[in-house]
Formats: sequence, C-alpha cells, structure tokens
Amino acid sequence: MSFKQEIRKNFPKWPIYDDSEIKALTNVIKSGNWWCGSPGVHQGENVWKFQEEFAKFQGANYCIATCNGTVAIESALMALNIGLGDEVIVSDYTFVASASAVIATNAVPIFCDIDPETLVMDVDKVESLITKRTKAIIPVHLGGNPVEMDRLMEIANENNLKVIEDCAHAHGSKYKGKKLGNWGDAGAFSFQASKVLTGGEGGAVICNSEDLADQIYSYTDCGRKKNEYFYNHYSYGTNYRMTEYQAAVIREQMKKFPKQHELRNQNAKYLSDKLNQIEGIKAMKPTQGTEELGWYIFPFVYEPSKFGGISKKEFYEKLNQNGIPTDDCYPPLHTLECFRKIKLRKGIDYSNANWGGEKSSDNHFPIVSDIYRRSIEFPHEILLSSRDKLDYIVNVIKSFQK
Ligand SMILES: *Cc1c(COP(=O)(O)O)cnc(C)c1O
Repeated sequence: MSFKQEIRKNFPKWPIYDDSEIKALTNVIKSGNWWCGSPGVHQGENVWKFQEEFAKFQGANYCIATCNGTVAIESALMALNIGLGDEVIVSDYTFVASASAVIATNAVPIFCDIDPETLVMDVDKVESLITKRTKAIIPVHLGGNPVEMDRLMEIANENNLKVIEDCAHAHGSKYKGKKLGNWGDAGAFSFQASKVLTGGEGGAVICNSEDLADQIYSYTDCGRKKNEYFYNHYSYGTNYRMTEYQAAVIREQMKKFPKQHELRNQNAKYLSDKLNQIEGIKAMKPTQGTEELGWYIFPFVYEPSKFGGISKKEFYEKLNQNGIPTDDCYPPLHTLECFRKIKLRKGIDYSNANWGGEKSSDNHFPIVSDIYRRSIEFPHEILLSSRDKLDYIVNVIKSFQK
C-alpha cells in the first residue's frame, strides 16, 4: 500500500464516509452494549445483524463475523480440521495472510504459480502440487478476479480436498452465476481499512453448511456452542469476535457498496479497454465466466521493451510524479523473508514445502516472478473517479512511450 497521501489528492479518498457512520458509532457507545455478547444473550445488535446481512449480500446461508480477515481464514481451516503437517495449496501472488493463516494452524502452505493474464492461481498447475499430505486449497481471488472455481472444485472433489476461498478482494465478485465464497467449503473476507468494504478492521467467513458454520462460530468464540451455557467450552476455541464498533461501521458501508461496486465495474472496463489499446500494456483479464468483480486493486502488466526498458520502480515514480496514485504489488510469497528462512513454527516439519532456501528461487515460480517484475497496481479508489481522470491516466502512460 502506498501511503503517499499527497499524490492521492486529485483522486477520491478512501474510505468514503458521511454522518451515517458517525451516528452508527455514536449509537453503539450510547447503547452501552459495546460487544456482541453470545448468540443466546445479544449485548449489541450490530454483529448479529451484520452476519445476516453479509450472508445475504454474498449469497450464502451462513456468515460468522471475525475481528479480521487473517483469522477468518485460520478459523475456516481449523473448523475444517486442517492441522499438524497437512499441506495447503495457496496462490503465490497474494498478501502474506493467505499463507500465514496456514502456518498458524501448524499446516504447511505450498505455493502455486499464477496465470499470466488473469493473475490468479493457475488451476492447471494445482494437480502437480498434490501429495498424500495435501488436505486443502486456498484459491485467492486477486483483485476480486475469480480463480476458475468450477475446474478447481472438480480437482478438489476428486482428491478429497477442502477449499477455502480467500475473498479479501472479492466482495461482490460473481462467477458463472454464483458469488465468490460459495464455491468452496468456505469463503473468508476482510474488512480492513483498504478493502472495498471496510470497518477499519474486520473479517467474516461465509459457508453453506450449518454444521461447518457452528464449528467456525465455536472456534471464534472460545469453544462455545450456540445457545448453550456461556461457561461451557465444548472444544478448543479462541476469541476472534468482531466488535460492535466494527459491525456498526461495516453495516453503514454496506449501504454505500452497491453504487460504488457498479461504478468500479464500469470504470474498470473502461480503463482496461483504453489501456489495452496501448501497445505493451495488458490489464488484468477477468477470468472467463466473470459477471461482477470486486476490483480491490486494478493491476496491469507492461512490456518494458515498449517503454524504453524502464524498470517497474521508474514506472511507478513516473506515475506518481504525474499525480497518479499507485499501490505496491504483493511480492510473491516465495520471495518473502519468512518463507526463505523456513523457521516459522517450533516443531513443524517444513521439509516438504516447495519454498525455503534454494526452493525459493524464482526459477521455480517463472510466471509470477516475471509478472511481478513488470506489474503495476492502482488502488480501487481510482475506479471511483470521473472518466476524464481515467483518460488522464491513459494519456500519461502513453506519454511514457515517447
Ligand atoms: C487483506 C487480506 C487478507 C486479510 O486481511 P486482514 O488484514 O487480516 O483483515 C487476506 N488475504 C488477502 C489476499 C488480503 O488482501
């Protein structure tokens, strides 16, 4: 994330709020109900209502709110019984949380290279990563762009693997008639401040199995069971509850979402079409079958030879010098310091991992390594600006070729 606020001044700021968020927060404070309580005894109403509203919003039967998106992934993994030494296939091009949540459960993430056009997990590469220890897959819908979930679910079902969709970028994304997060066993969302739906921090898991929903709830609320005595703890659990403050703000943001979502989708199409007309620019291609996209980020890839050989750093600098805000792309997971050194959790055998030491060499992840060297990202707010601002961006990029 770029924190260069001064560059952002000519583009919409994020988050966008008005008096309704302030009022909602004030109401929580005045109510004296500062936490959600338990299902039997609601202290506040926001978390409970949010769960219902978000399940409906994303087309799922159940939603369990959590304090952030990282622990939403962890909770889904724990409830699906992923643990010690199990292998979980994760996209290599994502935020660290997609893999650190796996580490937290004492399982081992296995990194999967991406498709050079859609920039998401290459489903063709998944099967070659499956071993006897593989228990789950975490497809990450980067920028809200769907992993080919129909094909991925076939592979998962054939191999008896659980699927947790990382939907941190995919609020509102819809693929082949179904919203993301409903294809796999569970979908994990984030409402962190930069996300397209936010409460500053926050997370949620959606799913369609009541039994799984109960287990996820239990893990996030101290091993309790719905509507049972408060001090009965039936299984190992922890406290990952969302606060009333978070839920109150997210609920207001959810009302603003549909209009913003539509505008992001229209403007992303407009900007992609214009950028793709420039020789040597390829905007992230929506996966075939995509109906709506979350557009948390807008990535595009450039061909250095068509731009006088400029480096990515120079490309970023030139955009910023022209007053255009950018976001940093995620360094591929296999390059991160923590995954080079291997010493992550005491007592866990990481020798089967496809990362660490020599294995973290870029040669083993050719597509993502190439893409990362020449990809540029815009933050989603730019997709809320007027068409003349988008034209301006296109013209500035064209001028780099002169
Ligand atoms: C933001 C994000 C998360 C988790 O988010 P939190 O900051 O813990 O809410 C997980 N995966 C991806 C891809 C993300 O971008």
